[in-house]
Amino acid sequence: MTSFFKQFVSVSRSAMRPFWDILMPPLCLGCDAPITENQTLCATCWKAIHFINEPFCPCCGAPFDSPMGEGALCSVCLETPPSYASARSVFLYDEASKPLVLRFKHGDQLHGLPLFAQWLARTGESFWPDAADGVDGIMPIPLHRWRLLKRRYNQSALLAIALGRLVRKKVLVDALVRTRPTPPQGHFSRKQRLLNVRGAFALRRGVDVRGLKLVLVDDVLTSGATVNECARILLAAGAARVDVLTLARVKSEM
Ligand SMILES: [Zn+2]
Ligand SMILES: [Zn+2]
Repeated sequence: MTSFFKQFVSVSRSAMRPFWDILMPPLCLGCDAPITENQTLCATCWKAIHFINEPFCPCCGAPFDSPMGEGALCSVCLETPPSYASARSVFLYDEASKPLVLRFKHGDQLHGLPLFAQWLARTGESFWPDAADGVDGIMPIPLHRWRLLKRRYNQSALLAIALGRLVRKKVLVDALVRTRPTPPQGHFSRKQRLLNVRGAFALRRGVDVRGLKLVLVDDVLTSGATVNECARILLAAGAARVDVLTLARVKSEM
């Protein structure tokens, strides 16, 4: 598109906005109810979605029902400490948030991206400072190329790019590769999930992560097996620290 045409489209789009909204009112990203503002949720969805706040496990971010005392870890992290330093998620993956996540994943709700990136930026607040503690780069969890062909885009990469723009951090989109497709993990036990992803990822040749502090981005954290394996590979390649940020997570790891 020429820049003149681009400008024309963007000017006419904003000028037409009031008329456009009457013809096509903005819809809730979760349930399609008409709302007054674009790219957000209706009041009912806002209330139903369980945003994760303290208290939660300081390691994996699993919410606790009641405060467990300073620094107390959940039983999963105590039993098998993950390779990543910490994981944080915006909201719980449950009946209320499922439509939001699945619609984004399967393509008809990509306009939720700016809102999701803002949520991720806020949830990962402690990761971004530019001081010595800040992260060096953001990395999406890769899809296997067959799945990428089928789905046409990697939702984690879209989240990582939008987030990187907001928090002004470098996004290493292609640094990790999926070397083999992994079967869906739905009915697997925790141990099987860890084995299922073992060796399924690699660092792209020539990518140097030595000494870097990285944040892995994904849409949903289920067992944590995938992010754990990616963090393991990055740390083995010399990364200084790996944290994890996801849009949603199941209540507790299985
Ligand atoms: Zn709604
Ligand atoms: Zn934990």
